[in-house]
Amino acid sequence: MYFTDAHEELRQHIRRFLEKEVKPHLEEWEEAMFPDSIVRRFGELGFLGLRYPPEYGGQGGDYFSAVVLSEEMARAGCGGLGMAVAVQAEMATPPVNKFGTHEQKQRFLAPAIAGTAIAAIAMTEPDAGSDLAGIQTVARKDGDQWVLNGRKIFITNGARASWILVVAKSDRERGHSGYNLIVVEKGTPGFQVTRTLKKLGMHSSDTAELLFEDCRVPAGNLIGDEGEGWKQLMWELQGERMIAAAGEVAGAERITEYAMDYAKSRQAFGQPIAGFQVIKHRLVDMATRTACVRSFVYETAQRWDKGEYPVREISQAKLLASQNAVWVADQAIQILGGHGYMREFPVERAWRDARLGRIGAGTDEIMKEIIGKSYGL
Ligand SMILES: Cc1cc2nc3c(=O)[nH]c(=O)nc-3n(C[C@H](O)[C@H](O)[C@H](O)COP(=O)(O)OP(=O)(O)OC[C@H]3O[C@@H](n4cnc5c(N)ncnc54)[C@H](O)[C@@H]3O)c2cc1C
Repeated sequence: MYFTDAHEELRQHIRRFLEKEVKPHLEEWEEAMFPDSIVRRFGELGFLGLRYPPEYGGQGGDYFSAVVLSEEMARAGCGGLGMAVAVQAEMATPPVNKFGTHEQKQRFLAPAIAGTAIAAIAMTEPDAGSDLAGIQTVARKDGDQWVLNGRKIFITNGARASWILVVAKSDRERGHSGYNLIVVEKGTPGFQVTRTLKKLGMHSSDTAELLFEDCRVPAGNLIGDEGEGWKQLMWELQGERMIAAAGEVAGAERITEYAMDYAKSRQAFGQPIAGFQVIKHRLVDMATRTACVRSFVYETAQRWDKGEYPVREISQAKLLASQNAVWVADQAIQILGGHGYMREFPVERAWRDARLGRIGAGTDEIMKEIIGKSYGL
């Protein structure tokens, strides 16, 4: 219903590439983080611009092309690299493509599509995450420059990014009309990466704390019109949540399949553990819930692709998909027993990586707030 032959061809192409050039290195990258060169490789193969205009080096595909990439990254167990690629292709660059000028697209979007630039998006601050209205980073206009002051935290790709799309307030009195998205390039005086943070999962990706101290960037680095940042950000978050949901479903499917194979071959009390009804039913629940979430995610992604703005359903899809991914990984650990707890089996990492889904791109609780509001609650 959702995928054409071209999507399936793309899927095979991505799968072959991941099998050959990515999967053999995943363990090593868990220890040392992935190298920038692999991002360039994604760019060379066109995977960072699947649905961007050919004019800027993109492939001109639809939203389901991006869904295919997200699914294949998850199926390959890419974790942190998958997140970094999603940030590059589906979070930091979409606002530049949608709201940026031709010149900005040439400067920022085209190199990000080519993989010669790494992109990040910086909303969260030490004192404001869910409550984005509480951010303190300020951008003051001074002649033909913006002067940024503030701190950002938990920024994926932040330490290695060539440019960062920074959310800043230009006018605290103007509420939602006082926000801007401004590009800050690596090496700009006044901008520094203050820390790279250690975390529970997604070890192959970098998560950084950033500082802007009288950081001056050209006025031309403002994306879209002044004061439009809040609306741009809310739009960006829908795409971010949608693509995260697609990957989480594929990740849950992968772990379910793994647990099924394991349960069929693992013997206890003279029979495969899949023969114990409690294990069988657990596996059935994992597969059934994931299949249902998958349908809902596809249906919602199709609406998003058609240009609708289904905030309620996107929030529901993100909430369900991320909760399901964690639950499935947890069930899988139980099915594998002690092996499930060991690093040499994929399920403990799947659990650690999936756990982020219930926090990043808006927590479970924030999704429920949005959904509640959509029902007038
Ligand atoms: C590995 C990782 C990568 C990330 N990458 C990025 C990135 O690239 N760019 C970026 O900008 N951010 C990024 N984030 C930040 C992420 O989006 C935030 O952590 C998330 O939005 C939650 O914000 P917070 O951590 O400040 O938690 P808080 O907002 O402090 O929330 C703490 C708890 O309070 C709850 N809570 C808050 N408000 C309400 C409410 N109104 N009702 C009920 N409960 C509430 C939350 O749900 C949560 O349980 C990343 C985070 C992680 C962990």
